[in-house]
Amino acid sequence: MKLRVLHIVEGTSVDGPGLRTSIYLAGCNHHCPGCHNPGSWDRQGGEDRTLDELMQVIAYNEAPVTLSGGDPLLQPQGVQELVCRVKRELGYNVWCYTGYTWEEIVADPVLLGAVREVDVVVEGPFLEAQRDTTLRFCGSRNQRLIDVQRSLDVSDPILWNQ
Ligand code: SF4
Repeated sequence: MKLRVLHIVEGTSVDGPGLRTSIYLAGCNHHCPGCHNPGSWDRQGGEDRTLDELMQVIAYNEAPVTLSGGDPLLQPQGVQELVCRVKRELGYNVWCYTGYTWEEIVADPVLLGAVREVDVVVEGPFLEAQRDTTLRFCGSRNQRLIDVQRSLDVSDPILWNQ
C-alpha cells in the first residue's frame, strides 16, 4: 500500500499539540478560495511513499502524528491502513485535517473508515469570510476540532478539549 505524499515535516508544533510528525498528502478537491496551499491540490503532486517507509519515519521521530495536505481523505484506504498501523504498532496520537465536514464523513462509510481510529479530526473547508488568525490549529471559525473517539456513537459531535 502506498500514499501520495507532498512532504513530511518532523518536529512541527503548528498542526496539533506538542511536537509532531506532519505528513502532507497530495490532492484536494475542495478548492477553497483563499486556500493556504493550492499547490497541494494536484493528486499527482509529490511522490509515492510506502506505508513501511512512512512508519519508519514516524517511529524514528517518536512523536504524535498529523495527516494534512491537501486532503488526506482523498486517499482513504491508505490513510485507514496507516492510522491502524500507527495505533497498533506505536500507539501514538493521530490528528487528521480534512476539508470534509464531520457530517459528510459520518455519512460515507469509506471516509468514516479512514478516520475511525484517529484521535482528532480538524474538519471543514476553509472559509475566507470566517478567517480568524487567532484560532489554534485551524484557519476559519467554521472549522471544528472533533474528538473522534467520543463522537462515533453520538448524534452531535464532541469537540476536542485540550
Ligand atoms: S480543504 Fe484545505 S487544502 Fe483543500 S482547498 Fe480547502 S484549505 Fe486548501
